[in-house]
Amino acid sequence: MPGEMPGMGGGQVWVKVTVEDGTWGLGACSFGAPSASVIETVYAPLLMGRDCLATEFLNDLMWRASQRLGDAGHATVARSGVDLALWDLKGKLLDLPVYRLLGGPCRDAIELYATGDDLDWAMELGFTRFKLTNPIHYREGQEGLNRLEKKVGDAREMVGLDAELMLNAVMSYNVEYAVQVAEALRPFQMRWLEEPLIPGDLEGHIALKKAVPWMPIATGEDHHGRIAFRQLVENRCVDVLQPDLKWCGGLSEAVKIYTLGEAAGLQTIPHGGANSPFGQHFAMAMPESLMAEFWLGSDPGVPLEEVRAIPGMAVPEDGKLVPSDAPGFGMEIEEAWIEPFGSGGREYYQ
Ligand SMILES: [Mg+2]
Repeated sequence: MPGEMPGMGGGQVWVKVTVEDGTWGLGACSFGAPSASVIETVYAPLLMGRDCLATEFLNDLMWRASQRLGDAGHATVARSGVDLALWDLKGKLLDLPVYRLLGGPCRDAIELYATGDDLDWAMELGFTRFKLTNPIHYREGQEGLNRLEKKVGDAREMVGLDAELMLNAVMSYNVEYAVQVAEALRPFQMRWLEEPLIPGDLEGHIALKKAVPWMPIATGEDHHGRIAFRQLVENRCVDVLQPDLKWCGGLSEAVKIYTLGEAAGLQTIPHGGANSPFGQHFAMAMPESLMAEFWLGSDPGVPLEEVRAIPGMAVPEDGKLVPSDAPGFGMEIEEAWIEPFGSGGREYYQ
């Protein structure tokens, strides 16, 4: 059942899966009503009455059923919510946290990087890895490049030479401009340049990687599903895979994407991983995922425990995080908070 929780994001669709004894699991996906509609009209009737622990089988049913709806769009986003709810449910039924279902912890704590431009605040919180927002668009030419060079140069000076520094371009460049950006940023030893191009431009990614082989390229939050990632991996045109667990098809799909990357020697570091319990459990259990992203969107000075997005979800401490070991994803959400989708809630998209 797709639902929402007033005050926790109207654009976010919460998905509740209930079994015969009343046990329920909760997942989430994004982009509001179209996602909710696919869950309600396509996936729910398909999964009703089936074995809830057969997560691979259920995913396969959804994947095949969604092909005509567009595997790169809402159908895959919606499948993410259902899959995450099934994992939460499985954890509750087996009384284990999801990271144990995935194979168990492979580290004591997850190392994090902070996304955002408030480097002072991120450093004060103990982060040593930083990803900056992108201030320019390819139409801004040389003037934009100069501005970017100044921003990244100042940031490098501030965080020091030992810190990892990344730039999040969010599809703002074309190939030619991305090459110019990579050249301009070469002196600043970037850990990676993220999502410089739109996801469908596979040839562009190939051309970019050939032109600037020394610049690590990360991408994937807007690539959905295993096939899009398989194409990136087999063309070796990216260095870090960044599926979003609420968009890419869920935890089951993220594990498939991870395995494609692992076999090619590539890391998978999910988009916004540390901002959701889903990404936290993934990062705890997957060896070739050496850090997780924490989008630092709250006001400086406000302790992170006070702006925790989901009750029960771990928040960073000293640039690290240990996920909840409560069953499922460990979310402390009460059933009464969940309302049928479309009945209320703030509108925003995440
Ligand atoms: Mg990004």
